[in-house]
Amino acid sequence: MDYFCNQLKTSVSNLSYWERSSYFHDVDVVIIGAGIVGLCSGISLLEKDPGLRILILERHYLPLGASTKNAGFACFGSPSELLDDLKRHDESKVFSLFKRRFDGIHKLLTYTGETAIEFNKAGGYELIHPKHSAISISQNELDYLNENIKRYTGLARYFYFDDDKLQKFQLNGFTRLIANDHEAGIHPVKMIELLSKLYTNKGGKILYGASLHTFTENDIYVTIELHDQTKFKTRQILFCVNGFAKSVFPELEVQAARNNVFVIQANKTLRLNGCFHMDRGYVYFRNVDGKLLIGGGRNQDLENEFTDEFGFNEKINLFLLEFAKENILNGDDFQITDQWSGIMGLGSEKKPIIKMITSHAGVAVRMGGMGIAIGSLVGEEAAQMIYTNLNQQQ
Ligand SMILES: Cc1cc2nc3c(=O)[nH]c(=O)nc-3n(C[C@H](O)[C@H](O)[C@H](O)COP(=O)(O)OP(=O)(O)OC[C@H]3O[C@@H](n4cnc5c(N)ncnc54)[C@H](O)[C@@H]3O)c2cc1C
Repeated sequence: MDYFCNQLKTSVSNLSYWERSSYFHDVDVVIIGAGIVGLCSGISLLEKDPGLRILILERHYLPLGASTKNAGFACFGSPSELLDDLKRHDESKVFSLFKRRFDGIHKLLTYTGETAIEFNKAGGYELIHPKHSAISISQNELDYLNENIKRYTGLARYFYFDDDKLQKFQLNGFTRLIANDHEAGIHPVKMIELLSKLYTNKGGKILYGASLHTFTENDIYVTIELHDQTKFKTRQILFCVNGFAKSVFPELEVQAARNNVFVIQANKTLRLNGCFHMDRGYVYFRNVDGKLLIGGGRNQDLENEFTDEFGFNEKINLFLLEFAKENILNGDDFQITDQWSGIMGLGSEKKPIIKMITSHAGVAVRMGGMGIAIGSLVGEEAAQMIYTNLNQQQ
């Protein structure tokens, strides 16, 4: 009798033979998180070895972090953001990161193409506001930025003042407008859908609503337990959980940071076209299907926004709405049609953490609010790290 009872105890999760053998048997790599980094890591691993058995686990029916909750900006850094970064980091770091963001978007486009993710290269604009911009920018500073951008990317005269556009875009209260012709808007959900299609077409598996509970490892494999008690083994595990990294690895220097976004229906036709930024990237807005998308404002209440909990901050929301009404909508009334928050992963250094924590568990986290731009390259680097480890294990 005991013999039968012991045998029965192992089948707690009610998986059928087919479910278990399709998803949980002989797994080479489990990736936690189906955001841009998790999917790009999976794609890159399968490019290296199409025979690998990879399973992505995503806790929610949609990615629940930032990859489908950002503002849809393919951006490389505004002048005030770069000048602010230069106060804390050396020149080579700042411009290498600029190049990485630029190259990352190009790699992303090799996966998705432009049309399918509604890549709209209408340019990027930094707006200088007398009250809200912490940094004012001179022609000399733009020349300095342009010189370095050219050195790192080959792009000439990247930023230029184009104040006439303030009127064209019907913007109020700003003193200057700095343009670049290279930034673009994208559709984040279409991007994620295409990346998941590419990943599954290559043979990768993905399960939504599958939340990692715990993992333990020995010399040979990692045992994973999901919240529904499903247990299985994998040879490697890669955490692509960005802002949520600390809940798994408290020692990592990753700070969760929330960002609020609104979509507003204005009473007038919006003339905006492009990606608009103000004050070191803290405030951003664009035209989405004729409506105004505006987000950010985290610096209005920095301390309270270092959180991995979704939700809204009244102070920030009032700031964003008042700012929109005064400076973008000419005081006209409007209706909020959508409102959400997303969680990013920040650190004292603007550099992702891509490293093995143990011999079987690695992380690719802390995208620093730049994951759309750098996610494809971070995925490639993380895949190389896991692939090397897998081969060393054999
Ligand atoms: C409002 C906003 C604006 C932004 N603007 C820009 C921008 O202009 N340019 C730019 O480049 N980037 C921008 N970003 C940042 C960018 O969106 C992120 O850096 C990027 O999406 C991070 O991708 P990721 O895959 O690392 O993490 P995420 O997309 O957060 O994915 C992590 C996933 O891990 C899952 N997960 C966590 N724990 C578990 C668990 N235990 N089990 C299973 N799954 C788990 C989560 O559900 C989540 O789906 C913005 C972000 C926000 C929120």
